Amino acid sequence: MISFLDINKINSEYKQLFSQTLNNQIDSGWFILGDGVKQFEKDFSEYCGTGYCIGVASGLDALNLILRALIILKKISEGDEVIVPSNTYIATVLAITQNNLKPVFVEPDYETYNIDPKKIKDKVSSRTKIILCVHLYGRLCDMKQINSVAKQNNLLVIEDSAQSHGAKDQSGSRSGSFGVAAGFSFYPGKNLGCLGDGGAITTSSKDLYEIILYLRNYGSKIKYYNEYIGINSRLDELQALFLSIKLKNLDRDNQRRIQIAERYLNEINNSKIILPKNHNNEDHVWHLFTLRSENRDDLMGYLNKNKVGTMIHYPVPPHKQKAYSEFSNLSLPISENIHKTTLSIPMDPTLDESSIDTIIKILNKY
Ligand SMILES: *Cc1c(COP(=O)(O)O)cnc(C)c1O
Repeated sequence: MISFLDINKINSEYKQLFSQTLNNQIDSGWFILGDGVKQFEKDFSEYCGTGYCIGVASGLDALNLILRALIILKKISEGDEVIVPSNTYIATVLAITQNNLKPVFVEPDYETYNIDPKKIKDKVSSRTKIILCVHLYGRLCDMKQINSVAKQNNLLVIEDSAQSHGAKDQSGSRSGSFGVAAGFSFYPGKNLGCLGDGGAITTSSKDLYEIILYLRNYGSKIKYYNEYIGINSRLDELQALFLSIKLKNLDRDNQRRIQIAERYLNEINNSKIILPKNHNNEDHVWHLFTLRSENRDDLMGYLNKNKVGTMIHYPVPPHKQKAYSEFSNLSLPISENIHKTTLSIPMDPTLDESSIDTIIKILNKY
C-alpha cells in the first residue's frame, strides 16, 4: 500500500533530536511559555517576513483570536460581514461565526480552487469589513488582486495560511505576510506539523500582536491580573521546540513537494482526470495534490483497490454541513461541484520515485 501520507516517515529523521529535546525538557521542568516558544516565534516571524508571531494551541484558535482582537480594537464589530471562500475547511467559517460575525461566501475559481477575486466586489455591503482568504491546498491566492479589492472597499485582509507554510509569490513574499494577520496550523499532517496540536498568528501590527499575546493567556499581562476576557490557547513549549527543529527543513520539503507535483502534472494523462493547473510553481507548496473526476467515487475505489491511498478534501462544503443548516439554501454551484468531484492522491515529501511511478501508471490505466 502506498499511504496517502506517511507521518512516521516524515518524522523519522528527527526521532533522535526529538527524544533528546523531550529529555532536556523534562529536566528543565518548564513546560508553558518558555524560551522554546519565544525562539520559535522569532524563527517563524523571520521566516514569514512579519514583525511578529504568536504561538497558539491550534489553527482554529489562531483565526479566532485574530478576529477577537480586531473586535477588541474596535476595527470591526459583532454582526459585521466577512468575505470567505465557499470551498474551505470548516475551521475558517467557524472562526467567523464563533465571533458573532457573518460569513459571506464567495465562489472559487476552477483554475486555482481559491477565492475568485473578480467575484468579491459584488458581495461587499456596508457591513463588510474583512476578506478572510484561504490559500487552499497550498496555493497562494492572487494577493495583488485581493489586496486591491480590499483597498478600494476599505476592507481588512486576513489569511488562513494553515495549508501554505512557506508558499511565496514572485517577489518572494511568503504566506502569512500579505494581510493584517494570518493564522497557521501545525496539525501533524500540515507542511509544517508538530507532534500534536499547535498554531500561530503572524502579523506586523504591534497593536494586534500585543492584544493577541495577552488573549491567548487568559487576557493577562501580569500573572493573575486580567485586562481582557481571554482564553487558554498557548503553543506548548515542547511543540515549539519540535517546530523550530522542523522549520529548518521546510523549504527543502516544499521543494520536494513541487518536484512530485511536476511529475504528476507532466506524466498523468487520462481524459477522465482533470489535473490542477500549474500556472506558476513559485506560489504553490502542494499541501495537497487534488485531481477532479466526474466519477470520483469510482476512481477512489479503483485507487484503493490498487493500493494507492486517497482522501477527499472535502466531501461537504461548509454551507451544506448539518451544523450550518442556516446556510443550506445558498446556491454555490462551483464549490458544490468541486466537493463532488475532488480527490487527493499521495503528496508527501518522503514519497520515493518508484511509488510516484506506480501512482502515475495506475492513474493512466484507469
Ligand atoms: C487545518 C486547517 C485549519 C485548522 O487548523 P487546526 O490546527 O486543526 O485547528 C484551518 N484552516 C484550514 C484551511 C486548515 O486546513
